[in-house]
This record gives sequence, structure tokens and C-alpha cells, in this order.
Amino acid sequence: MPEVAPSRNLPPKGERHFRGIPVSGGVCRGRILVLGRVRGLVERRELTEGELPGEINRLEKALLDTRHDVVEVKRRVTASLGQKEADIFDAHLLALEDPVLISEVTRLVMEEKVCAEYAFQSVAAKYVEALSRADDDFLRERAADIRDVTARVVNNLLGHQEEVDLRRLSEPCLIVAHELGPSTTAQLDKKVVLGFATDVGGRTSHTAIMARSLGIPAVVGLQTASQELHTGEQALLDGYNGALVLNPTDQTLFEYGQLVRRKATLEEKLREILRQPAITLDGQRVLLSANIEHASDTPSVTASGAEGVGLFRTEYLYIERQDLPSEEEQFQAYRAAAAALKPQPVVVRTLDLGGDKFVSHLQVAPEINPFLGWRAIRFCLEQKDIFRTQLRAILRASVEGNVKLMYPMISGLEELNQANAFLEHCRAELRQEGVPCGDKLDVGAMVETPSAALIADALAQRLDFFSIGSNDLIQYTLAADRTNERVAHLYAPTHPAIVRLVRMTVEAAHRHHIWVGVCGEMAGDPVLVPLLLGLGVDELSAAPATVPHVKYLIRRVKMPEARDLAEFALHCESGAEILARTTALAREIAPSLFEDNA
Ligand code: PEP
Ligand code: MG
Repeated sequence: MPEVAPSRNLPPKGERHFRGIPVSGGVCRGRILVLGRVRGLVERRELTEGELPGEINRLEKALLDTRHDVVEVKRRVTASLGQKEADIFDAHLLALEDPVLISEVTRLVMEEKVCAEYAFQSVAAKYVEALSRADDDFLRERAADIRDVTARVVNNLLGHQEEVDLRRLSEPCLIVAHELGPSTTAQLDKKVVLGFATDVGGRTSHTAIMARSLGIPAVVGLQTASQELHTGEQALLDGYNGALVLNPTDQTLFEYGQLVRRKATLEEKLREILRQPAITLDGQRVLLSANIEHASDTPSVTASGAEGVGLFRTEYLYIERQDLPSEEEQFQAYRAAAAALKPQPVVVRTLDLGGDKFVSHLQVAPEINPFLGWRAIRFCLEQKDIFRTQLRAILRASVEGNVKLMYPMISGLEELNQANAFLEHCRAELRQEGVPCGDKLDVGAMVETPSAALIADALAQRLDFFSIGSNDLIQYTLAADRTNERVAHLYAPTHPAIVRLVRMTVEAAHRHHIWVGVCGEMAGDPVLVPLLLGLGVDELSAAPATVPHVKYLIRRVKMPEARDLAEFALHCESGAEILARTTALAREIAPSLFEDNA
């Protein structure tokens, strides 16, 4: 629940704090732009006698604006789908002008002295209820019209923007929304979007991951913020501690100014080790890589001090467009990344669509449990043309640099065997065509399902490396949706089950002489780094923005203390205790990394 301090009865200009889950560090301040439709009920705001005439004006203006919106939508639908499809909007216009409805709303505002959005929603709800109970189909359909129109009017009263082309924002703003999909987040232009805040979401949702990749502050799980905040209001967003401060006072701004200065001092310290190796105090070399979403992200990999790419999430090549990327286009993207970082490795992960990442033009039927459904390798093994195009592009790009290929979401040996066989088929095809392709391409799999960790021995015999996808491994092991803030407290990276699965994976990998990395968000959390190293992980791959922090910690830890910690964790029954122990060690050896954390 957002923490509201001071209380709601204070004047609207007062400072208010909302608490959520911090997902991308940084502090920004600016004008709010609320996106998307209102969901659920709006707040009942009491008005003074003097405010009533202004409220009626506000209502009239919102009705007029809604009328313009509906007329505009009707025009667009007529142009694209035809007059018949657009007729529905005539019913919306009629509902909007219904004299009984409007006079009832006006009466409620004046008599009960409540805000117009609350009055409209309450009156409309009664209409909808009565109409939905009618026997007549026609009347029942009117209920849907009233619902639609109500949402539009309430949005206009709250200043929410339903349809904004995020690529065309001209003024700097702080985006607030109920939720943002990864494809929307990927469109955000960081020159104008200062940061974003959402009602829902978790630390490892792809939207949060994208925020870290863009390097903009972000807070999720703010629950009702998008309903309580209005476009145009001034706010400050603290992505370090997960806070949104509405109308910050001078004192708050001063305190945040100090926080930003302290963070700048830390950044300075981190810059000093930029070109230093990721090596523990007692000399153990760790491969530290970065995660990317686009080939054009490679400069940030180099700038972060990472030694290559441990995870290239290729789905963004497919998401931000209306058709499928061709083999040539993909080849150019993978080749560019490999060439830019050569001789450092670039681990290209094959398409991981599904879960919370969708491509509208593929028209995949909606699923009840998309994270447990037709996702990643499952999709690719059935959509062979799409898979073939990508495998050919990766094989061709491997000539140009140190490319490695990785399959996502492997849950059984048959899947791996099928994928490997198909890869060989694609290689043979290219050879036959005389197209250059790498003779030896390292092939790995993500360990992100509990089943993969449990059969890691069998998988390791057929692979060159593993990369633990902790984001999914945690959600699948603990049955806690990574995108759902309600179960965020159950989503525990240090749960004993996770510790043991990581250890099993490492042991199986090492038995078969292959390396094992972690490319989920666990790898980017400095607190967890000693634990992962102690468990025997060879590589860590994190968002470029967090790589320097991870390196700072690696350079301050000694392997015996990391191994002791892992040993403790492997025998501990409590995730909270494991977290406390690894946090204590991380804070002790690298206090400056944690100075301002909540
Ligand atoms: C993971 O699951 O940890 C992972 C790295 O893959 P993604 O976050 O893209 O699902
Ligand atoms: Mg995953």
C-alpha cells in the first residue's frame, strides 16, 4: 500500500510519499505524465463549498474533451475498418450526452460535495448494474458503452493520457502508469523520459530489466499511484529506495541533492576500477559480462568495464516492429555486436518470446498462464521457420567474432536434443549453400527451470556452458510470478531451494568440465555476489549499469569467506538468514556500495 504521508486531508499541494519496489537506481524530478486507463475505483475526494463551481466547470470540460476524443476515434476507425465498425461510437456519444446521467452526476457533486470523477463513476456504476440485469440484449450492450465512456471521462478528469506516442514526447516527463509492457518500455526515449513508476511489477519483470538497461530511475509496485497522481503534477522519483515524492518540499529536494552527490562520489570510485580486472582479493579471476537487448548497446558494455556479453536478449529485435526480422537483418545485428567486442564473447540467446514478451503481429492466442505456456524454446521448436532464420543468422555471425549460442527455457533433454539436431541441420544447409559459418560454435543452455537444474548432469554432457537464469529459476521454483508485486515477498533469491539448485548446477557443470554463469538479476546484485562466487559460479552477467558495482565487490571479497558463506547457506533452512549473512558480508567488505540503501 502506498505510504501516504502527510495525511490525505492536507491541501493538494502538500508533499506525499508513495512507496514501491526500487528497480533501477537514480533520482529524477519533473512533471508527471500519467499513461493508460484508470483501473478500479477512483478516490472519493471531499470538496469545500467554494470549490463546487470549479468542479462543475471541470466536469463540463471533461465531457467536451471526451466528446472530441470519441469523435476522433470514430473518424480513425471509419477510415481503417469502415462505417459499420465505427457505429458503436455513436452509442458512446449518446451515452455521453444522456441528460439523466449528467444531471445525476451534477447533483451528486453539488449535494454531496465530492469530486467529479468519483461522482461520475458512482452514478455510472448504478446505470451499468441496472442495464446488465436487463433481459434485453440491446440494453445489456448499453452497459458496455457506459463503462467505456465512463473510463474516458474519468481519464480526462484525472488528466490521464490513453494513447501517447512515446517516441514523440517532446517535453521531459516522469511517466506513471498502471503497468508498462517491455515493448512500451523499449520505446522510451531517455532524452525525454526522466524515469517511470508503475502500480504493478516486480524487480525481475522485463520492464524493470529494460529500465536498468536504459539507465533511467524506475520504481514499480506502487499499487494505486496511477490513480492518485495527475498529469502535470511535480514529483521526484527515487529509484534507489523505491519512493515517489509528490510535490517535494525544499527540504526533501535538499536531502535528495545530497544523496545524488554521494552517489556521484561512489561513481567516481567505480570509475577508478573500470579497466581493472574482476579478480577477488586472493586472486580468483571471475568473468564479468554484461546483458544487452540491442546490438547498439555494445558501447555501454565497453563503458561498463564488462568483458563481453553474457546474454543478448534477441527478442527485442522482433518486438519493436510489425514484421519478422530477416536472416540478413539478424546476421547484421549479431555480427555488429560480435565485431564490436571481438575477441570478447557475445552470448546470443535464441528467441525467448512469451511470458511477458509478445509480438502483436504473430497473433499467438492468449494463454491463461503465459509464463508456463508456449514460450521460448517451446515456441521455436514448433515455429521452425522462425527458428531456422535465427539459427542461420547466428551461425553466420559466428565467423565474425566470438559468438556463442544459448537456448532459453530448456526443461528437458528431448528439447535440447531437438534444438541441437536442428542447429546441425541449419549448419549443414549453410555449408551446402557455400555460406561461411563457424565450424565450432559454443552452445549453451540457460538453467532457468528447476527441471533443468535437476537434470543438469545430462544436459552438461551435450553443452559447452550453462547460464543460470535466476529470474525465471526463482519464479518457477518458488511459484511466485516475477511480475507480480503481491508475491514479491515470496520471490526470494536466497531461498534455500534456490541456493541448492545453483549448487547442483555448478557441480554438474564442473563434473563435465564446462563453465557456468548467472545472467539473471541475481548476478547484478552486489549483495548476492559473494554467495554466487562461493557456490562456484564462474561468470556473472549483469546490466551494464550494475557491472561496476559488481566488480567493486568482487575485488574486495576473498574466496575462503565466500565459500564459508556458501557452505552456511547450503545447510541453512531459512532464506532470510542466508540473506542476512550475505548482506552482512557484502556491507562489511564494500560499505560504500550500500551507504544510501534503505
Ligand atoms: C532469467 O530468467 O534469469 C533470464 C536472464 O532471462 P529473462 O530475464 O530474459 O527471462
Ligand atoms: Mg528467463
